[in-house]
Amino acid sequence: MRQKIVAGNWKMNKNSEETEDLINELIDKLPADSEATVIIAPTFVNLASAADHTEFTAIRVAAQNMHQAEGGAFTGEISADMLKSIGVDIVIIGHSERRAYFHETDALLANKVETALKHDMKVIFCFGEELKDRSTNSHFNIVEGQLRDGLFNLPANAWSNIILAYEPVWAIGTGETATPEQAQEMHEFIRETIRKQYGSIADDISILYGGSVKPDNAREIFSKPDVDGGLIGGASLKADDFVAIVNGI
Ligand code: 13P
Repeated sequence: MRQKIVAGNWKMNKNSEETEDLINELIDKLPADSEATVIIAPTFVNLASAADHTEFTAIRVAAQNMHQAEGGAFTGEISADMLKSIGVDIVIIGHSERRAYFHETDALLANKVETALKHDMKVIFCFGEELKDRSTNSHFNIVEGQLRDGLFNLPANAWSNIILAYEPVWAIGTGETATPEQAQEMHEFIRETIRKQYGSIADDISILYGGSVKPDNAREIFSKPDVDGGLIGGASLKADDFVAIVNGI
């Protein structure tokens, strides 16, 4: 049985005090018996305190990025070992904002994934087409290419540490959401693409949807058979909204 997951990507939001406040609120308000694994991804500077704060709760903490090298002269960067040393063993890799603003390529992302797995981390691997790809009907090709170039060099046994997050770029932070049918269509395509390459392990992979998930659309999106949860941006910054989304699983 694959895992249901709701993850909050806080992006570059929340200072130290705000991070603590939001975590306290989530600890208070998240249901104790949720079917979903709940993950939050605060900024690097607040990761250590978030990991400490949530240690004895069901909330898991993820980093939003990491560097592919083991360490050394990479000013401003953070390594897998550093994350592990503060108790963080999940990392988001390949977010569209990293791809667009920091020029992260599929080849670089493949490298990051490899480093993360080498350190026994779980990876939330993000990918998704831009609006121009969908309007030229090349969205399936683009997504297939991102999967192939980012992940298909992995051995089959590595996939137990991979969580996929399909995030159509046109739906991120825009208020525009893929319809539940569009999400299902793409998630099914993703699962079949993995099945062609790796066989039945495709059934065990959690595929999250990301892009303007809100309390009022989460339940319907999550009800689709190949949607195993969500990666939430804006709506993860308010405890009540995020909890409502988790309750939609
Ligand atoms: P929004 O939920 O703000 O559209 O962001 C989605 C996202 O990028 C999550 O990683």
